[in-house]
Amino acid sequence: MALEAERGRDAWLAKFSAALHYQKLDPTATLHAALNHIVDVSGAAQGGAIILDENNTPYLTALVGFHLDDDQEFWATLISQGLIGFVLHGRQVKIVRNISTDPRWIGNPNALTSATGSAVGLPLRSVDQNRIVGAIMLIHPQLDYFTAFRVQTLERAADILGAAIENALEALYLRQKTQVYQQLFETAELEKNNLLRDETLRRDLSAMIYHDLRSPLQNIATSLSGLNRVLASADRNISHDLIDLAMRSTQQITRMIKGLLDLERLENGRAVLNQRPTSAADLLRDAIELVRPILTYADQTVSLDVESDLPALVIDIDMIQRVIVNLLENATKHTPNGGRITVGARSYENNRVMISVEDTGTGIPPGLRDRVFDKFFRVRYQNAPTGFGLGLAFCRLAVEAHGGRIWVDSEQDHGSTFAFTVPIESSDHRIDTRRPAARTS
Ligand code: ADP
Repeated sequence: MALEAERGRDAWLAKFSAALHYQKLDPTATLHAALNHIVDVSGAAQGGAIILDENNTPYLTALVGFHLDDDQEFWATLISQGLIGFVLHGRQVKIVRNISTDPRWIGNPNALTSATGSAVGLPLRSVDQNRIVGAIMLIHPQLDYFTAFRVQTLERAADILGAAIENALEALYLRQKTQVYQQLFETAELEKNNLLRDETLRRDLSAMIYHDLRSPLQNIATSLSGLNRVLASADRNISHDLIDLAMRSTQQITRMIKGLLDLERLENGRAVLNQRPTSAADLLRDAIELVRPILTYADQTVSLDVESDLPALVIDIDMIQRVIVNLLENATKHTPNGGRITVGARSYENNRVMISVEDTGTGIPPGLRDRVFDKFFRVRYQNAPTGFGLGLAFCRLAVEAHGGRIWVDSEQDHGSTFAFTVPIESSDHRIDTRRPAARTS
């Protein structure tokens, strides 16, 4: 096992927690990623994980290192007579020191690569620790491999996984509900029944807000509960990763709430009041930093291309920063891992500056380029990233409220460039918006 010391263990648990965060609350992806990480770090030859639904029937399973013709039958045996069954019914960790002699071990010669060795089974608990949401099992060819320290580490990982799975299942339920609302909305629109449409729209929006706010909130809850455990151990520095994750999710929630409030405000025709001078380079650099973790995770490179000596922009900094972050989040979402994103600013006609976000992603089909700015519009294709079609609607309202224009140029399968214009300060009363050197990042 790679983790033989407290310090290594805590670092791994922090990374493990972050890896689950990036599975975007997808239960299947979360379970597979978690099992692979656990098998990898524990040095086990094989591993299995099962998640139960609310009626305690198997809902999801994952296996690593098994070659089975019929894994349903294998799981049925494991649950009725095997180690997994003992763990689920006993609600606690079970260690099998020697699988060739232990009666709890089902020797399935076709399924197991090793006839000797040891195994451990661990329950996966809900966040409140009251419900058993599933179990994992690991097998190692060495006898008596799962020592107290190793099991303790695995128990901590199982706790993090249990919480993450519970969150992912809840999010899935909410996503399904939201889809129902979305369909209702679309039907209502077809019927052109305004009253019904408005009411459905209202409910649809509440469901979306609820859903969108929940995901990062749940991540915070999971990170903080992981943090709690890590803090109980010797090395407190490790907790920084988890705190970081929680902080980023908090910022994400804040941006979403502000975006939704702005959307409503701008739709009601209210003006942008808080316009201040700012430098385009600082604005773009800050926006990039906000999405840096997603870019790093997707192995995408980002470059900044700002024309020198640009005049100061006069904008609602917070609002336009959210426009750029939205465009950057879309760019990374629709660009394969390893792709390139370029953020730029240059002078444009009529005393304006043009800001652009260019990606090397899927692109947008020609007939749909104007429609992506409509509320609830999404390009539908197989395996399209999830979303609600509100981001670009907000961007358009925010840009137009600044007297600007937003558009997209795109070449299918080669990428898209979203660009918009913003006002600049008039040349007769320029203010120096450059930051002091010490503050540049
Ligand atoms: P969401 O991303 O929540 O679906 P948006 O309003 O931000 O909503 O985007 C609307 C649609 O425009 C997306 O569903 C996607 O189909 C398309 N889109 C947006 N940005 C890009 C991009 N950079 N590359 C390809 N398609 C994009």
